[in-house]
Amino acid sequence: MNGEYDVVIVGAGPGGSAAACALAPHGFRVLLLDRERFPRDKTCGDGVAPRAVHALYRLGLRGELEGRFQRTSGIRFYATRGGLTEVRYPMGSRYPDHGYVVPRRSLDYILLRHAQELGAEVWEGCRVTGLLPPRDGRIPGVEAEREGERLEIAARYVVGADGPVSLVGGELGMLNRDPLYLGVSVRCYMRGAEGVSDFLEIYPEDAISPACGWIFPVDGEIVNVGAGFMFYARAKHGLNVNRVFEAFVERTRHAARKLRHAEPLGKPRGALLRVGLGGSVPVRGNVLLVGDAASMTNPISGEGITYALESGRWAGETLAAALRSGDPGLVENYRRILEWHYRRYFRLGTMAIRYGNTPWFVNPLLFTTSRFPRLGDKMGRFLMNCRRSDHPL
Ligand SMILES: Cc1cc2nc3c(=O)[nH]c(=O)nc-3n(C[C@H](O)[C@H](O)[C@H](O)COP(=O)(O)OP(=O)(O)OC[C@H]3O[C@@H](n4cnc5c(N)ncnc54)[C@H](O)[C@@H]3O)c2cc1C
Repeated sequence: MNGEYDVVIVGAGPGGSAAACALAPHGFRVLLLDRERFPRDKTCGDGVAPRAVHALYRLGLRGELEGRFQRTSGIRFYATRGGLTEVRYPMGSRYPDHGYVVPRRSLDYILLRHAQELGAEVWEGCRVTGLLPPRDGRIPGVEAEREGERLEIAARYVVGADGPVSLVGGELGMLNRDPLYLGVSVRCYMRGAEGVSDFLEIYPEDAISPACGWIFPVDGEIVNVGAGFMFYARAKHGLNVNRVFEAFVERTRHAARKLRHAEPLGKPRGALLRVGLGGSVPVRGNVLLVGDAASMTNPISGEGITYALESGRWAGETLAAALRSGDPGLVENYRRILEWHYRRYFRLGTMAIRYGNTPWFVNPLLFTTSRFPRLGDKMGRFLMNCRRSDHPL
């Protein structure tokens, strides 16, 4: 055994770092570990929505973002036969009036360093290989490998923040394979796109339906281009993610025009999405899942940074309460918090995307929202899960 921790957090993406930031300042012994060495790349659209911006500012990271990364003013939706709908943040909500595009190489490094500064112990290049066998109904820690050395790390609580293919969740049977909650996306950085703005651009175009594509501005020159779809659509329409990406770049009405002279900077990279809260069980005994491991990507937008940051914080706060009181039963509150905040929206979003993501629905919808800005704002708020009545938490 290599030491005993109050909490070991597996995975230092936004979810794991947010959990560490919520725990470490209270003096708990927190170990945050990741198989990668940072700064590291992570396949993502890099779009940081206003709700995520709020969570980052709340962590005291405004100075790390302002002036350093591309700010965004809103979202543009391009429908093949529906025209252009432009929605400006904050769309009538109380969240910030801007977002960012921050390459994950930078964002995750900023968060990791912050967790470290707040007192978390960080081990990079440390891969968790399994959970220690249960003792008295609890998982006493994790097995890991670092620089060829095999380690057993004892902890009172384990947080699985290890992404959509979570080893922690998988070992405990907390993940399911329901295609309703699984998706895949591919993205590529490109240089030389035309007419790049400070808006996130979303393209639910006919040529790739029921997939959807995006072009996000990384800076004045480089864009993050990607496309994705849900697994049930793959089965029904025989979709292949690389071919969808190719069709997006070459055969869509609006996006292909913008990208006709753009050059890829490297190969497109794909990754899994676990969405809508239904793809995982978030708590089992003394183990909590956060972020993608807990199936917390927005089923409509594919946005998961917000939910990783929020769930990481709530997991950390719940564990702090359980550790302080000595009552392990308190961890069940984490499930209640997630259900209270997300369940209704995620369920609605899962159904909306399942049945509404077709050209016959999307084109008339975007035709209407392009002419009625208030409806556009409403759609934007739904997409970003920001209600008018929300008081940012
Ligand atoms: C193509 C694509 C585009 C996307 N675009 C956006 C977007 O524009 N905006 C947005 O908000 N969201 C987007 N998302 C979703 C977003 O990337 C995720 O929701 C987010 O990364 C979840 O964060 P996380 O901390 O839960 O997990 P992750 O960011 O996946 O972090 C998990 C960490 O765990 C580590 N890990 C895994 N296994 C182990 C192990 N066994 N041992 C040790 N460490 C381990 C990994 O190295 C990784 O660092 C996109 C996703 C994809 C696939």
